[in-house]
Amino acid sequence: MDFSPTGWGRVILWTALGAIGCVAVALFIDQFNFPSLSPDQLTRAVATDIAVPLLLAVPILFFLLSKLRELAVAHEQLRRHAATDALTNLLNRSAFTREVEEELADARFASDGARGSLLVIDADNFKRINDTYGHEHGDAALQMIARAIRSVLRAADRVGRIGGEEFAVFLPGTSLLVAEAVAERLRLAVFAIEFRPEDRRHQLTVSIGGAVYDRYLPFAELFRLADQRLYAAKQNGRNCVAVSSITHYETLPAAAA
Ligand code: GH3
Ligand code: MG
Ligand code: MG
Repeated sequence: MDFSPTGWGRVILWTALGAIGCVAVALFIDQFNFPSLSPDQLTRAVATDIAVPLLLAVPILFFLLSKLRELAVAHEQLRRHAATDALTNLLNRSAFTREVEEELADARFASDGARGSLLVIDADNFKRINDTYGHEHGDAALQMIARAIRSVLRAADRVGRIGGEEFAVFLPGTSLLVAEAVAERLRLAVFAIEFRPEDRRHQLTVSIGGAVYDRYLPFAELFRLADQRLYAAKQNGRNCVAVSSITHYETLPAAAA
């Protein structure tokens, strides 16, 4: 049973505990009258002490607790809504940043956890799509790209839309070899999209930059290094990936300047 704040298990458990508590209080208070009662009267008194709290407390507690559950559900929906990009249903930039920052911090002191990769994915020549077919077709293309990216990833990977036609993927625990393979699979998944605005086939492509880390780095630093590699992929002609491990030199303060 689900005992989370949004689950019915919690409502039922606390209603039962509350009702038992009310019965216990009634019996405790009434016990001072018990010695003066005949056996018949005692049976009736105990039955009343049990029945009245159950009849009154159970519906009231159930009502109040189910209202609290409704509030918890609404809160969860709001939280999810605030974290989601409306067009693609992926994490939005701030939620993606927050979740990856949390994962990086959690894995900081793990024996093998402080390694993984960040990929930054940018749709190629996207402005041309808007200019040629209109913004709505551009939006449809972004949704298709988002679906293609999600389809390639594991459940544990994080994916967000971090800008207009830019996406980011966080792959915890991955080596360079795996990160390169995933980036290539992402590129091919987008390349395979059948995008036909106004009945004309338009080839969608993305460029991908990936930075692979093997010790803790703050998110901003990791993003900067992945973005540098994305720039290299763009320079390399687009529709390609540039993934590499972060070198010690790159993380020196002078390299960031
Ligand atoms: P590059 O290959 O260098 O990345 O070229 P590009 O055209 O993709 O890049 P540029 O930065 O010049 O243009 C990005 C375009 O993405 C411009 C903007 O209209 C479009 N864009 C950004 N957000 C959205 C959106 O939410 N919907 C649509 N339809 N287009 C968007
Ligand atoms: Mg861009
Ligand atoms: Mg672009």
